[in-house]
Amino acid sequence: MTSNDFSTAHPASRPELESSSAATVSAGPSLGPTPADLLRRLRARGAADPVTHVERVPARPGVPAPWPSWAPPELRAAFARRGVVAPWQHQAQAATLAYEGEHVVVATGTASGKSLAYQLPALATLLADPRATVLYLAPTKALAADQLRAVAALELEGVRPACYDGDTPRAEREWIRRHSRFVLTNPDMLHHGVLPGHAQWSGFLRRLAYVVIDECHTYRGVFGSHVAHVLRRLRRQCARFGSTPVFVLASATSGDPSTAAGRLTGLPVTAVTEDASPRGGVTFALWEPPLLPPDSGPSTPVPPQSTGDHDDLQQVRRSALRETADLLADTVAEGVRTLAFVRSRKGAEVVAANARRALDDAVPGLGDRVAAYRGGYLREERRELERALLHGDLLGLASTNALELGVDLIGLDAVLICGYPGTRASLWQQAGRAGRSGQEALAVLVARDDPLDTYLVHHPEAIFGAPVEATVLDPANPYVLAPQLACAAFEAPLTPADLALFGDGAKEAVDQLVAAGALRQRPTGWYWRHRERPEVDLRGEGGAPVCVVESSTGRLLGTVDGGSSHFLLHSGAVYLHQGVSYVVDDLDLVDGCALVHAEEPDWSTHARDVTDLSVVSVRSYVDAGPVGMFLGEVDVTSQVVSYQRRRIATGEVIDTRPLDLPARELRTVAVWFTLSPQSLTLAGVQPADVPGALHAAEHAAIGLLPLMATCDRWDIGGLSTAVHPDTEAPTVFVYDGHPGGAGFAERAYGTASAWLRATRDAIAECGCESGCPSCVQSPKCGNGNNPLSKPDAIRVLDVVLANLPE
Ligand SMILES: [Zn+2]
Ligand SMILES: [Zn+2]
Repeated sequence: MTSNDFSTAHPASRPELESSSAATVSAGPSLGPTPADLLRRLRARGAADPVTHVERVPARPGVPAPWPSWAPPELRAAFARRGVVAPWQHQAQAATLAYEGEHVVVATGTASGKSLAYQLPALATLLADPRATVLYLAPTKALAADQLRAVAALELEGVRPACYDGDTPRAEREWIRRHSRFVLTNPDMLHHGVLPGHAQWSGFLRRLAYVVIDECHTYRGVFGSHVAHVLRRLRRQCARFGSTPVFVLASATSGDPSTAAGRLTGLPVTAVTEDASPRGGVTFALWEPPLLPPDSGPSTPVPPQSTGDHDDLQQVRRSALRETADLLADTVAEGVRTLAFVRSRKGAEVVAANARRALDDAVPGLGDRVAAYRGGYLREERRELERALLHGDLLGLASTNALELGVDLIGLDAVLICGYPGTRASLWQQAGRAGRSGQEALAVLVARDDPLDTYLVHHPEAIFGAPVEATVLDPANPYVLAPQLACAAFEAPLTPADLALFGDGAKEAVDQLVAAGALRQRPTGWYWRHRERPEVDLRGEGGAPVCVVESSTGRLLGTVDGGSSHFLLHSGAVYLHQGVSYVVDDLDLVDGCALVHAEEPDWSTHARDVTDLSVVSVRSYVDAGPVGMFLGEVDVTSQVVSYQRRRIATGEVIDTRPLDLPARELRTVAVWFTLSPQSLTLAGVQPADVPGALHAAEHAAIGLLPLMATCDRWDIGGLSTAVHPDTEAPTVFVYDGHPGGAGFAERAYGTASAWLRATRDAIAECGCESGCPSCVQSPKCGNGNNPLSKPDAIRVLDVVLANLPE
């Protein structure tokens, strides 16, 4: 982990700090007001108090534990040389469970020292058994490189740690396979390199004692489902060579880490969640920007520049960007060192520019003490900004989360978070930038106009209480299972006994592979029929990705997954890439390539689509009187048919242009609920308002799903209708936007009453009159947010909640 949080100075968190490749910049002593005073002054600015909640997160002393008796003296001495005098209790507990052979996941806060929890048992075993080996998996090469430095710094004899990834020179690979006993790699390399070449790895795998899976919460959705099978393939090869490694996983705090880790590995996993590391105190405020006066007209409230988020929706609430810019100006004027996190690069620049302007208006020249910070700066530019902040020449920085990759800035007096960053882990990571030893700091979450943000600022327990958001994946997804079984069969013929390892649906998938001519069945098992190995991309989703290429230079700007390409890259689309605006000249579907040129027109584009959905099968359902709740397979057909151009400054529609794109089909998993028409009439929803009521409920429900499962609203689709031919009733569908499903709809079904309760509350608690982006409007609506009925959406959800069992 490269980041730091509340526990900055204690020796036992050193392994995490040491592993950071980034420089750590710590500001000098604070001269500004106390967090409580500062917050009081910020709140006193406007007419209405925008603060919905203040949480004092008290400083927490660490709870150290003695070194476990099994930890050899030379290992303790090595850690002591790195400044670790004793483990924290959670580290010792997880390490001992793992040493005793239990699969364990340690799910505690950022920089709580999770690495010690796996380094301790793994290295103790390597020292005790000179033949044993350890395999470490990180989601990124950079993290693996950080861990390599941390393990190498311990200078333990005979461990010979080494990274093995795409960048490893051929000449070194053989040496690593033969001699390294602590190999650090990533799931892609395990999938493409290690497992297909298992014969060369037989010595290593035969002696494999531990598999460490770091940052395991990043393995979610379709990617996570692929990784789950890569791990099953690893376990199969280990079993063939006679080893049964212990799995140790490290996760961000999340709901139910034991279940998520169990799904990922296919093994029973014990969770350690009690964080015993120390942290500094933080005053944490939840801030909801005020509603705009109704007569302020459509042209004033829009930010001066488009940020690509919600340009199309009529704003009724002051924008989070403006609010954050004002807060940044105010804290800087107080002499408080402040970091503002903004989701987009352009947004960060808008915040910095507005804060500078406000400061210069107050005191000419004061604006120079605020800057924007983003990825893509040259190393020297970044160092200069860090130096300026360290010395107090600079007091305010507006940054995207690129900062997390560039440098560790710690010991700031205040952190402003413009919009919920999507997960609690990121939220705490950003808030953790505030606070220096012995001093309290201020953190402020400024709600964006999004139903999830609205919910969170009114439900502090969702932020400060026990986590509910879970990492979800679905290894049973047939679109993942079949190609993974093909990979497994290439590595060694599949036997009937293997099928249990790959879970439900494996037999069916194997039969399909036989029917398709990929596998041949023999008395001894199923054989891969081809010479070449199956081509399977762990990160491939929704068809081949579309390349975005700048016409004039041929430069590849990036890729967009096939599923979103029609929406984002149709001819004429305005496409934002890292905050820079491009216009699409041509989308070539045959070559999977969109040609673009840099241009910043004063309009934005909004694709419209037509979606059709049919129910294929029902997996599970709850019959609750007038309400039905279902989980099942569906076929979704959608076609992007046109796009609107809208003036950025006013939201005015310039024109609607037709598009000629083919329909796309998706077989996936959906959750849906139905209501009887009578129950709606009884609840006061007029028949003419049913479509708007269901549509509004659908939008908000999609917006709130990230509360229950780590996903993005772009991972999910929805459809609502006053009567659906398959259900013959008013129905709201919410489906996974990935072929075969990714676990999101399933999680929604499993937590349906909590999910829809939160949805209902987010709508009801939004102070707007008739619906806004903070509650029922959606930035990705294919129908232009029409029709929508906010009050009737609450009635619909009340009917569902009144009937659905908890
Ligand atoms: Zn609203
Ligand atoms: Zn919609």
